[in-house]
Order: sequence, then structure tokens, then C-alpha cells
Amino acid sequence: MDNKKYVYLFSEGNATMKNLLGGKGANLAEMSILGIPVPQGFIVTTEVCNKYYEDGKVIAEKIIKEIHENIAKLEKITGKEFGSTTNPLLVSVRSGARVSMPGMMDTVLNLGLNDEAVEAMSKLTNNPRFAYDSYRRFIQMFSDVVMGIEKRLFENIIDELKEEKGVKVDTDLTGEDLKELVKRFKALYKKEKGEEFLADPKQQLIESITAVFRSWDNPRAIVYRRLNDIPGEWGTAVSVQEMVFGNKGETSGTGVVFSRDPSTGENVVYGEYLMNAQGEDVVAGIRTPLPISKLEEQNPVIYKEFTDIIDTLEKHYKDMQDMEMTIEEGKLYFLQTRNGKRTAQAALKIAVDLVEDGTLTKEEAILKVEPRQLDSLLHPAFDVEDLKNSKVIGKGLPASPGAACGTIAFTAEEAKERAEKGENVVLVRLETSPEDIEGMIAAKGILTVRGGMTSHAAVVARGMGTCCVAGCGELKVSEVNRTLEVDGKVYTADDFISIDGSTGNIYGVAVKTVTPEISGHFAKFMGWADEIRKLKVRTNADTPKDTKQAVEFGAEGIGLCRTEHMFFAEDRIKAVREMIVAKNVEERRRALDKILPMQKEDFIGIYEALEGMPATIRFLDPPLHEFLPHSDEDIASLAKDMGIGFEELKATVESLHEFNPMMGHRGCRLAVSYPEIAEMQTRAVIEAAIAVKENKGYDIIPEIMIPLVGDVKELKYVKDIVVRTAEAVMKEKGVKLEYKVGTMIEIPRACIIADEIAKEAEFFSFGTNDLTQMAFGFSRDDAAKFLVDYYENKIYEQDPFAKLDQKGVGELIKLAVQKGREGRPNIKLGICGEHGGDPSSVEFCHNIGLDYVSCSPFRVPLARLAAAQAQVKNRR
Ligand code: PEP
Ligand code: MG
Repeated sequence: MDNKKYVYLFSEGNATMKNLLGGKGANLAEMSILGIPVPQGFIVTTEVCNKYYEDGKVIAEKIIKEIHENIAKLEKITGKEFGSTTNPLLVSVRSGARVSMPGMMDTVLNLGLNDEAVEAMSKLTNNPRFAYDSYRRFIQMFSDVVMGIEKRLFENIIDELKEEKGVKVDTDLTGEDLKELVKRFKALYKKEKGEEFLADPKQQLIESITAVFRSWDNPRAIVYRRLNDIPGEWGTAVSVQEMVFGNKGETSGTGVVFSRDPSTGENVVYGEYLMNAQGEDVVAGIRTPLPISKLEEQNPVIYKEFTDIIDTLEKHYKDMQDMEMTIEEGKLYFLQTRNGKRTAQAALKIAVDLVEDGTLTKEEAILKVEPRQLDSLLHPAFDVEDLKNSKVIGKGLPASPGAACGTIAFTAEEAKERAEKGENVVLVRLETSPEDIEGMIAAKGILTVRGGMTSHAAVVARGMGTCCVAGCGELKVSEVNRTLEVDGKVYTADDFISIDGSTGNIYGVAVKTVTPEISGHFAKFMGWADEIRKLKVRTNADTPKDTKQAVEFGAEGIGLCRTEHMFFAEDRIKAVREMIVAKNVEERRRALDKILPMQKEDFIGIYEALEGMPATIRFLDPPLHEFLPHSDEDIASLAKDMGIGFEELKATVESLHEFNPMMGHRGCRLAVSYPEIAEMQTRAVIEAAIAVKENKGYDIIPEIMIPLVGDVKELKYVKDIVVRTAEAVMKEKGVKLEYKVGTMIEIPRACIIADEIAKEAEFFSFGTNDLTQMAFGFSRDDAAKFLVDYYENKIYEQDPFAKLDQKGVGELIKLAVQKGREGRPNIKLGICGEHGGDPSSVEFCHNIGLDYVSCSPFRVPLARLAAAQAQVKNRR
């Protein structure tokens, strides 16, 4: 027999019970303890929500009984009665998960009204207008939220009535008018549902609670949870609270208030209120609310009581509070308090201020800023006002944060050309490939039809800090016609679009962007994060420019330099192609000799930017065919440049074709087939380090990283080439230099035999992009297409390419860590997949004892903060 308690009166809870009562419920209970005037009520727990889904979307009879018992208790506390014809109890029914999800779930107000109760209310308050206004609001909300009748249909009826009565605003409708409105609303309800409006308050309540649980799984809540790392299994609680009324006349009112300014963080009470109104009027923007400072003039006594409570709450919760209050006929009530949402600037200022006034320790303050919020400090954002008038025409994956606006470029060349003439362009492609790099650099933003969070476009854009929306399947892009079709409209190269890389939203118009300012609070706060964290933060960077940027953001070295990006540069692609089509070793060496000085120059630039910090250089990874042209036209042009026949080059391109390039001739397999490539790269790495040591005095310890290793013999084979070459170079130069050879762990087999691999590897860096791809068997470039169906069907809640799958991939990593240490106790361990810049994945890396995470330059501050938070939350 299940003896669990599923419903709690406010007096039975407190703030520590958030998991069970939800944030809102727990805070209501806590406010009651603090003696703050709170209308009383009860909370149906998050466990009921989970049980509702387990039981096939029904609330168990036993729980319904418990709810009824609590209604009886509430009736006793309030002295009112559900459905009473003399003193009816009315309640609000609100959602409340462990963390607040503003606006994502449903709410019903004024519940308990029916034809009799409304008359009682009318008599009791001597205010028929108020009573019928409440009733019409309830019918409207209940019909929309619980019964799924479109809100618009009710709005139409209000508009019709206002026109008939010749009035402009809702408040000009009289009590009689509202009575008429109720009649029409009920008729609409009957027409839509084929039955009378539900009159029994108890049934109204159970139906409304059910609707709130249902709303836990509405599409916007699911998307919000995915964006904010909220697990579906948390569920929502429902709070049922006695209504107090802000719409009882001119001595009543309602307001939403923050204890500090949520945009700037300034320590002033900030908010708005409206007299003679209910909360939804403030939110809906039907009437213009007044700034809270006006209340001081209007009612100094209430204002004083109100600011005293705000002070108490802020001190109690040690954080900026976001509160809802209602004044009912001159009496003040608090309906809700929670830690307020705030901009990144405000979050930093508030955290720093609370430490400086002694409220918080640095450790506590570190937890007050969302790591992901830092993104908005480092990238342009859309102008809020401008955005309000801009329609979303499509949505893709939020692949790289920031906001971009420009005319459309359909090829990389076009993007480059037009950007050089001063035009702002957004590069729109089916997908990007390495040869698009220059167009990607030139564009303000990148939008792709295909590809996931670790696709080429996403990875490269994040690296550059360029805004990117990827994998937007609803776009139809024709490169031939140079058109983009979406949402029933065709856009050409002259049209503006705007994309938001933080939400994935696409707008079919120009939206103004604004560049954020970084305040002094940022440096101070990040300094505290650095004092606290144990995990080092490196960066994934392939150019001196990106490296410098990352160092400015606090990177402590490079964790991944993808050398293939250097092969794609326009001035060297010819030599690379010569290398690929070479018929024998001599020809290949000749081509490689041309690439060597260029690659060496790159490394010198990168080492100099690092000023002596460590650099992990990964050897060539992608399959060779990626470097060759594919259309006949491009092949002919290259053949001409290279002085070889068209057929010969075409045959080479065809011979390099692979059915599954991700699992093809790439990574260390290239060096196994063509050791000369590894020789050249080793020489470039070592010669550059010697040059920087001699010219700048930096003692660089290069870390040469062999990708895609699945067996120790494979690693040993390539490592021998590296060691042989490095020793030869040092001998030639007469310089001794320390260097390390290690490997990426990105194939599941490598995790399983990590002890053997560690015997040959001085370090491991987890390539979680490929490891995720191969552990799930999901193509990292194609999975975005079908993962949406997985989210919809609750098979997976998160994109495993963005947030590390700790259950599966994480276990493989843990195994490799344990075995790696068995093979080499002092082995250095890091991660360089995209997960190195994801907060919850960083926490995982801290917890399993990695030495560092490595992420793209613009995510370095986020990773520093996430690492500090991990240290505070789970001291190692
Ligand atoms: C990885 O696979 O996680 C990785 C970092 O390498 P790449 O993304 O270049 O395959
Ligand atoms: Mg990889």
C-alpha cells in the first residue's frame, strides 16, 4: 500500500523542499514561515506529475481524494467554501518546477466560480463588475488552458461587445456588460465542447491540475528544458492558492517587482504595478503599468511595508528576488518569490555586489551566474525592441551563439567577395565544408540546412565566435537559382535575413544588432572563478588569431589544434592536391616539402600567441578526398593548373571516393599509409618550437597528438615515425627539446584497451565528437535530422553531441581514465570534443578527475566558470 504523502499545505513545507514542492511551492511555504502575508493553499507534489505520466496520464483516485481533503483544510483555514452561495473560496492553480520555467507551463486563476458563486461574490463585495470580470476571466482561461478552446475566439467576442457598447478599453465595460460577456463566453464554450460549462469547483480543480501536468510536456516546455538542461523526470508541482484580488476597485492592485534592476543589476527596487487589475493585465500589456516608484506617492504606508518585505526576502534568500504582489482593498499580499532572472551584466554586478557587502562568499557568488549567460557578453545580440516586431520564419539548432543580420550569400566565394565590398552577409548553405572557410570568416553569420552540433559549420563557427544556426531542415536552398525558400516565401541574394545562434531562430527581415559591453565586474568575477577551480581550461584553436583571442579569454594553452584547417588555406591547397595525386613517395615528398615551411610558420604564430603555454597539435585527420574538387568543371580547372590530364585527375578523385568517409581513410590511418605526412608535420612542429625558443625565449613543450587510434600497434607505428623524425630534427639543429606524444581517445575500442594504449601515450585527449558518434552509431552530420523525433517521443531529451551522454559515453570515458592510469599512473588527461565547452559536461570532467577541458575560444570563459562551479558543488 502506497502511504506516500502527495499533497502538502503551505504550513507543512519549507524552502529546502524544492525537489518535491517545486520552487514556487517551497518558497510560498517558506514565506509563510517568515511571517510574510501569503494567501494560504496547498501543493500537489512533483511526484504526482511523474505518477500522472507513469499511470497513463491520469491522476490516481487516491491522490484525488488527498486533494479533496486538502480543499477541506483550506476551507477551514480561510473560512470560505468551494462553490458556496454566501462566501465562496476561489483559488489559483499554478505550475512550479524545481527551477522556474517562466511562461512555459499553464496557470488557471479565479477557479471556483460558477453561476451561483459569482452572484455570492457580487453581493459580498457589493461589486458586480468585479465579480463578473473575475468570472469571465476564469471561463476564458479555463477554456483555453484546460479545454483547448482558442483564446482568440474569446478575444473576438470581447472586441465585438466593446464595439457594440462603443467603448475602447476593457475597464470601460460595466458590470452588466460583463454579465452579458459571460453569457456569450458560455455559449461559445457549449458550441465548442457540446456541453455546459463545468460548474463543479472540485471538478474544475482536478481538471486544471491535470492541465498543468499536461503542460509539463508541451512543445515549448520540452524545448526550454533542453536549452536549460532540465531533466524531464523532475516534473512540475502544482500550487493551489486562495485568490486575492487586485481587481476589486481603486484600492486594489497587482504588481511584479524585482529587488534589484534585472537589466543592470543596480541595487534599486524595480518593477511595475497596476491598480484595479489582475496579474495577467500587467503581463498582457493591455494597459500600461506604472513604475513601482509611483506607489510610494500613491500609498506610502503600503510602499513601506512592501519594501521592508522585499528587504527581508532578499536577505533571507541571499539573492535578487522576483516577486508577485497583490493589494486587496488596501491589504498587501505576496503571491510568489523566486531568484530573479537577469541579464548577464546584471548577474555579474549582483554577484560582485553581494560579495562586497558581505552577503555571499566568493564560492556562493560563483553559483549565481549561469555559465551559458556569459555567451551574451561576448557576442552581438539583437536589439530587444526591434526583435519584438520581427517574425520567426524558421528554426534550426543554436550552433554558435550571437546574432547576425545581412543579405544572403549562397556560396563561400560570394560571401567573401561581397563582404570585401563592405556588405554584411549571412552565408546560407546546404552544409559547409572545409573549402568554405574563407566565406565563413567573411560572413556575419552562417545558416545551414543540414548538420548537427558537431558538424563542420558548427565547430568552425564556434571556433571563430561567429553566429551559426545549423540543421534547419525546413529551408529549401537552391544554389543554382540562388534562392532560399522558407515559411512560404522566396528570398534572394538582395533580401535580408537575421539569425540568432543562441536560440536557433531565423527572421526574414533585418533586425538591428547591438554589441555588448564588458564591465569591470566580469574580470573580477572571473578572477574568483580562477582562484576556485581545479580543472584547467585550454582552447581548440588553429590560427594565431583564434589563439590570441582565446588567451585573452583566459585559455591556459591549446588542447586541440586541428592541422587540417591549415591545409585548406587558399595559398597552399595546390600543394596539398599535388601531394594527394602524387604517384609515388618521391612525388609526395616534393609536394610536402612545399607545405612544410607554411605549416612551420603557422606553428610559430600559434606558439608565439601562447607565450610559452602548452600546445597540443593534432596530426592530419580528414580523409584526403575532402581536399579535392568534385565537379567536372573544378576538376578540369585543377588539372590544368597542375599540368595533368582531366581523366587522370578524375580517376584519382573517384578512386578516393569513400562510402562512409567518417569511418574511412582518415586519422592515424593516413599516416599508416603515408608516413611522409607525419614526418613533415613532426618536422614543422619541432622546427617551429626550436625557432620560437631561440627567437622569443619561450620554452614550448609541443604535444603531438595522433587521432583516431583504435589499437596500440597503430599508435606505436605512427609514434615511431614521430620520434624518429623529431630526434633527427633536433640532431640537425643541435637543440634538445622536450616534447610529448599522445593520442586522442575517440573510438570505443580505444577506451576498452586504454591500459595498453597508455603504455605508448603520454597523454589522452577525449575526442567526444567521434566517441559519441561511434558509441551511438549516429552520424554527427546527419543526426540532427532525426533527433527531433527522439525528443518528441521522449527517447532522448538532449542532443548527445552538445551535452555529454554520461550514462553511455561517460562510462566509456571513465573506463579509459581508470585503465589509462593503470597503464601510466601520471598520464595527462583532457577532453577536446565540443563537450569541453558545455557546462554539465565540464562538471562531469571535473568529477572524474580530468586535468583540463579544451573548447573553442569564445567558450573559454564559460568553461572557466563551469569548472569553478563544479569545484564548489563537488569538491574533488
Ligand atoms: C572529436 O572527435 O571529438 C574531435 C575533437 O575531433 P574532430 O571534431 O576534429 O573529429
Ligand atoms: Mg575526432
